[in-house]
Amino acid sequence: PQELTGPYAAEIKSHLNSTFGLKAFRKNQFEAINAAMAGRDVFVLMPTGGGKSLCFQLPAVCRGGRTRGVTIVVSPLLALMHDQVNGLKEKNIDAVLLTSNTTEADARQIRDRVYSREKPTFLYVTPERLKVSASTKSMLSYLYRSKELARFVIDEAHCISTWGQDFREAYQNLHTLREDFPDVPIMALTATADRKTVDDILDRLGMRDPATFEQSFNRTNLYYSVLPKRSVDEMVAFIKQSHPNQTGVIYRTGRDKCEKLAQQLRQKGLKADHFHAKMDNDDKERVQHDWKKGKIHIIVATIAFGMGIDKADVRFVIHFDLPKNMDGYYQETGRAGRDGEPANCILYYAYRDLQPILKMIRDTKDPNTTPASIERQERAVRAVIQYCENNSVCRRTQILLHFGEKFDKKDCHGQCNNCANEGLLVTQDVTKEAKAVLGLVQSLERGQENVTVDHCRNIFKGANLAAVRDKRHDQHPSFGAGKDMPKELVELLFNRLLYLDALVEKSVQTNSKWHVQYLKLGSKANSFLTGGKTLQLSHRPKDPK
Ligand code: ADP
Ligand code: ZN
Repeated sequence: PQELTGPYAAEIKSHLNSTFGLKAFRKNQFEAINAAMAGRDVFVLMPTGGGKSLCFQLPAVCRGGRTRGVTIVVSPLLALMHDQVNGLKEKNIDAVLLTSNTTEADARQIRDRVYSREKPTFLYVTPERLKVSASTKSMLSYLYRSKELARFVIDEAHCISTWGQDFREAYQNLHTLREDFPDVPIMALTATADRKTVDDILDRLGMRDPATFEQSFNRTNLYYSVLPKRSVDEMVAFIKQSHPNQTGVIYRTGRDKCEKLAQQLRQKGLKADHFHAKMDNDDKERVQHDWKKGKIHIIVATIAFGMGIDKADVRFVIHFDLPKNMDGYYQETGRAGRDGEPANCILYYAYRDLQPILKMIRDTKDPNTTPASIERQERAVRAVIQYCENNSVCRRTQILLHFGEKFDKKDCHGQCNNCANEGLLVTQDVTKEAKAVLGLVQSLERGQENVTVDHCRNIFKGANLAAVRDKRHDQHPSFGAGKDMPKELVELLFNRLLYLDALVEKSVQTNSKWHVQYLKLGSKANSFLTGGKTLQLSHRPKDPK
């Protein structure tokens, strides 16, 4: 049992139940609240659904410690802010919301309240409004001068870091908070941050000796599995059998795919709809509303559907296309089971799904793209492939490693399909085959021939293809060197060599496009070719249809 002590413990405990209607604190909540009340800067890293809001909402309703005045909450997500403000009002806590959409009349009313004696407990404000609005700034200065600024809360704090993908321009500006209001404590919260991003957040916000609460990213109630992607019918059968009438999200990479799949699901009798960024706001709101109310069970969505969905009873999250990186994958699966009840996270994997994603990365119209950024994204998606193809290491261990966390598979308790199927794996030594592949690439390189991975794999498999014959590669001594290997194992082998940097795909500049990718030897090739390094691959022989 948790020991709740300290000068503020009694007050904190009483509000947990009387104001928030909760029975016990979750991990780190009490400690973070306590540190906030002591007036410290606080950094909270908690997985999605962990209960971050309470960490800054509870101190604001207390009277002891550093709580006097208005708590300013900065968040990037309008929908989430609306939800929180409404939630607070339902608890009779005084909260107001100021965004770039707030009408001048409403904004004036809010300002009047802030300047009056009956101040709201919370002022939620978007970073954009905070950045550009002079009246908002002078309101903060006024509060500061009258010692009525309780604290700044920066939610989704990773948006300040240019390392992450959620970087928000207006978040950059938040460094001025510490400069302009030096002795107002700051609390920053996020669910995604590796070491580098955490340091970046602390640095950019100018946080001083923060009380830091980081907790395991392991979500014990989620079952993780990767299954071969075969057909929509198979997925439908699974949903009907395992999750009848339950809530779920299916992630896809394109809006057309979302619309089409949702329609297919409806035809098969499931209550499904789609969600993506290109829909107009009314449609989006309707879908979200229907889903919340249970009129729709399944949302087929791009990753645009995500940040800020607060539906606690999501029983399954399916990825029907390859996620772009492990960070995103973890975030998206994290939307399952926020109520703590068991939920399923399934990734339907097919290697062929890699190509469209690589194409998307390379064909980007983003003017800030550089060869280095493309390589980084490619590396990130290859890590997903590696995750999918690694059938032997506990999936939790693999996922959490991306967050720098060491996870012992004994703590998984069979709640991933690698731990559950441990006995069914076959491990095979493929050192000889690896050397044959590398030898093939080496000889092509010496002949100054540029070939793609696909082409090289076809030579190795001895494929009877015009593209191979045209280059006379059917005459190559290594043609067909891997013809006795199962097709899946050849793919595994090439992917693993790429992952291990024994092979690399190099971008080569041509007249029109600079992003043609050719297969070359990588920095680790020699450790296999001459260094005596061996390679084993584990795979599950095909399960019966
Ligand atoms: P986060 O912002 O970390 O994703 P939230 O603050 O939205 O998470 O909380 C997620 C859910 O957990 C909410 O439904 C919230 O009411 C619930 N919750 C938070 N703290 C507790 C607690 N101590 N006991 C029970 N439920 C809690
Ligand atoms: Zn496991």
